[in-house]
Amino acid sequence: MPKTSILLVGAGLSGAVIGRELAEAGYEVTIVDQRDHVAGNCHTERDAETDVMIHVYGPHIFHTDDAEVWDYVNRFQTFLPYKNRVKATSGGAVYSLPINLHTINQFFGKTMRPDEARSFIEAKADTSIETPETFEEQALRFVGPQLYEAFFKGYTIKQWGMSPTELPASILKRLPVRFNYDDNYFFHQFQGMPENGYTAMVEGILDHPGITVHLSTTFTQDQAGDYDHVFYSGPLDGWFDYRLGRLGYRTLDFERFTYDGDYQGCAVMNYGEEGVPYTRITEHKHFSPWESHEGSVCYREYSRACEPDDIPYYPIRQVKEKALLSDYVALAEKVEGVTFVGRLGTYRYLDMDVTIREALDTAAAFLKHRDDGTSMPTFVKPPL
Ligand code: FAD
Ligand code: UDP
Repeated sequence: MPKTSILLVGAGLSGAVIGRELAEAGYEVTIVDQRDHVAGNCHTERDAETDVMIHVYGPHIFHTDDAEVWDYVNRFQTFLPYKNRVKATSGGAVYSLPINLHTINQFFGKTMRPDEARSFIEAKADTSIETPETFEEQALRFVGPQLYEAFFKGYTIKQWGMSPTELPASILKRLPVRFNYDDNYFFHQFQGMPENGYTAMVEGILDHPGITVHLSTTFTQDQAGDYDHVFYSGPLDGWFDYRLGRLGYRTLDFERFTYDGDYQGCAVMNYGEEGVPYTRITEHKHFSPWESHEGSVCYREYSRACEPDDIPYYPIRQVKEKALLSDYVALAEKVEGVTFVGRLGTYRYLDMDVTIREALDTAAAFLKHRDDGTSMPTFVKPPL
């Protein structure tokens, strides 16, 4: 009798979505996670002291242009309107991010209209940089030195632990510069927050008779042989016991504090200066603007190099890490019956919507390979 059982390592979005799709296709799905909760890094829970819904591993805002993914998440949770409006403290003043007309006018003490501001910033920009390669070149080319120093340089040194001259331009390209008063941090068509948190959403995804979840269970490779196929959303280098060395990550330390009232009046306040040791303060009750809470809970966020016992957050993906990644990919491609998925399994920074899109595509690819009688690839989306 053919085996029809699937093991998923990790009950984050990758594991939950692939698991659900395959359970709906008739597979018997087992999911293990070493943590004592589902939802991976999107995990949310109520703060015991204030009852505020907290994003335990850092703030998560859902934003996407992918209508299918938006419909998918709305199947399992009601998403309420939420617009991310980030503020930044720099040089003793508070500004609006991403850089928009308000930021520019306030920063330079002007009252410019959009066209005037565009010409003004263009005159400050270093137009000798034709194709920006580094983060710093990208900033100098598009916003000029003053805004770069105030908002990006110090923040980026703190966030990445290296000079913006060593980082790729692509990191800054994620942030728009706007010559109007639109202060929405994201430009996607759909944006919102799950009414009862991401963990409730993931619990909904996992609520299927074909799915069994074992929490506080660390995967060991001897478990793999009992299954038809394994989808692994743990760290790629971890699968190989780090035998070639560790892929570099940044980790975060969260310093919790409470406040009686409203601490900062917004969900996210960034700190652009290098002299302030944290990158940002998040006040979580503002992520659920439809709720009302007297007390407040906030987190100062500090970034540093990830050590073996820390939680890996941001893959570094510099030249050195990419070379090591390529060696691990070569090893992984020799492993049979396993597909590496998700942010850790493919060593990429993935937003939630992209994670879900890839998980849906991975499950569809699995079913197609089964129907075609061909073998499932090790990576559906090559990480290099
Ligand atoms: P994960 O959530 O990391 O899940 C992997 C799971 O595997 C974990 O639960 C882990 O415990 C488990 N695991 C690992 N190894 C093993 C093992 N050996 N045995 C058993 N279990 C194992 N995205 C957005 O769209 N919007 C945001 O605002 C946003 N903010 C973010 C903020 C921060 C600070 C970070 C780091 C990420 C943010 N993201 C955001 C990205 C989001 O967190 C990811 O898209 C999502 O977590 C990816 O899900 P995943 O299932 O691939 O990985
Ligand atoms: N960034 C910055 N100042 C800010 C916000 C962001 O310099 O106030 C830089 C920083 O290097 C960050 C990058 O822009 O890594 C992308 O910003 P995003 O908000 O996407 O950061 P992430 O989600 O990676 O924390």
